[in-house]
Amino acid sequence: MLRQTKAVASSVLIAFLLMMEGASSAHAGTKLPDPVKAGVAEQLFRLDCGRSLANDESVWTPGENAGRSIEFSSTCWLIRHGSDWLLWDTGVPESAFNDPKGWSTLPKLIVYHLDKTLTDQLAEIGLKPGDIGRVAVSHTHGDHIGNVNLFPNAAVLMQRAEYSWIHSPNGSNENVNQLMALARKLLGTPKNLQLVDGDTDVYGDGSVVLISTPGHTPGSQALLVHLKNSGFVILSGDVVHLEGNFERSIVPSLNTNNQESVASMNKIRKLIETYKAKLFINHDKKQSDQLKLIPAFYN
Ligand SMILES: [Zn+2]
Repeated sequence: MLRQTKAVASSVLIAFLLMMEGASSAHAGTKLPDPVKAGVAEQLFRLDCGRSLANDESVWTPGENAGRSIEFSSTCWLIRHGSDWLLWDTGVPESAFNDPKGWSTLPKLIVYHLDKTLTDQLAEIGLKPGDIGRVAVSHTHGDHIGNVNLFPNAAVLMQRAEYSWIHSPNGSNENVNQLMALARKLLGTPKNLQLVDGDTDVYGDGSVVLISTPGHTPGSQALLVHLKNSGFVILSGDVVHLEGNFERSIVPSLNTNNQESVASMNKIRKLIETYKAKLFINHDKKQSDQLKLIPAFYN
């Protein structure tokens, strides 16, 4: 009898602890932060997570630049919040490191190269993959989730809509089916998967907020980060690929919903205005090359 009571008491305690953990890890549905009162993250580092060569720019700028080649950057960001480290996107798989043939999700269109590994770049500031507490992914394209499996103990944060999408039945577009199959393979089954719905304040203090930006994929997201000296920064995910596309609301042809993409770009524009934020565009190589690279950082 006593043993039974003890067992019930401990299972209640475990349930309570799990509930508390869930509550402190992500505040789904909370309002966007007050621009004046928002908390701050201490450091923001850019990591070089690959570069890619595409043979037809017009895929990203429909109606223009047909047959012209273009080079993109692949960018990851590392954020220090108190004693926690959050990695935003994980880039091209480390298996592609120094491989002259490169790696591809759609070989006829685009080939990725990796000149530096995530692991080596983390080591530049004394970190190991096991030190990363949270991995948040903008969406499930292979060049963003290529190294999620380097962080088996981290909480993996993504939109529920994205997770449901890659686990939905195949549609009629073979390219999209291929990308979904690759996404399932690269994502695997994270031990600590945290699915969120819409804009979500990660730490509950307004310093790091997941911003829902569907369109490029059904559960795409961006990240709003508040820093003491640099102010607000928005990490784009793939809500837009190039500065010029953002200026003119141009949606690439590899995209799941054009209308949603334009609405998401408008949402980002509003956030830029409200928070006087800078927009760092993941794949815009011209812009990325101008930004600080780990071990340098923004604070
Ligand atoms: Zn993408």
